[in-house]
Amino acid sequence: MNELCHEIISSRSAYDSIQPKYCQLPKGHSGKHSEFHYLDHLRTVQKSVADKIKRDSTMTTGAAWKSAEAGPNRILRWVMLLSDSDLKHYEIQMDKLKPQVVAKLREKSATYDDCMAVAKKLTWLVYQMNEAPKPPQDIREYLENYFGKMVSGSTTCIICKEKLSFSLFSKAQRGKAEIETGHISPREHNAENVGFAHRECNIAQGNKTVLEFYDWIRGIIKRVDNR
Ligand SMILES: [Zn+2]
Ligand SMILES: [Zn+2]
Repeated sequence: MNELCHEIISSRSAYDSIQPKYCQLPKGHSGKHSEFHYLDHLRTVQKSVADKIKRDSTMTTGAAWKSAEAGPNRILRWVMLLSDSDLKHYEIQMDKLKPQVVAKLREKSATYDDCMAVAKKLTWLVYQMNEAPKPPQDIREYLENYFGKMVSGSTTCIICKEKLSFSLFSKAQRGKAEIETGHISPREHNAENVGFAHRECNIAQGNKTVLEFYDWIRGIIKRVDNR
């Protein structure tokens, strides 16, 4: 396993007092401290993919909550681990939100360490997609230390198991990307449980775990065949 530098990286975020950001570079590294150094290469190839990995791993998602009534559109996942009363210190009034919105936000909460691991896992998966760029050797080694050897073209949709192509990141319909971050179990945000999925597959899976989703489909196919 990688031994990390773990130097605190200060930022101007109001949430730094909840959870400082830590340098994720190997211990004893040269150069500047960095939280997402392993995204540097991807950022030069296709910035939107690097941004997406960072955003999906650390921020909550959900409905396009725009109003104050509906709650913060995106918030750091570890902030959502705080109690309602602690969140008031950060001007987040959970009791003013609809219960469904609160439930959704709470469901997406995750620790900082889990979020960091998710970002690394997603990066490792991106580099193994068909048509993906080749990672620089240091980044490859860093990620392989966590998740094992990369095999080019081996990343599949976590739901339908079809191989995924890097080019899907630049394809979008009505502003929605064709590839999304998915969860094998929708309520667990950790490295073992995340991956990429077709947007259509992700929508079909909904709130079910992948196994529940397969059972549901199996039931439908069976009834259709027995008509
Ligand atoms: Zn460092
Ligand atoms: Zn799929």
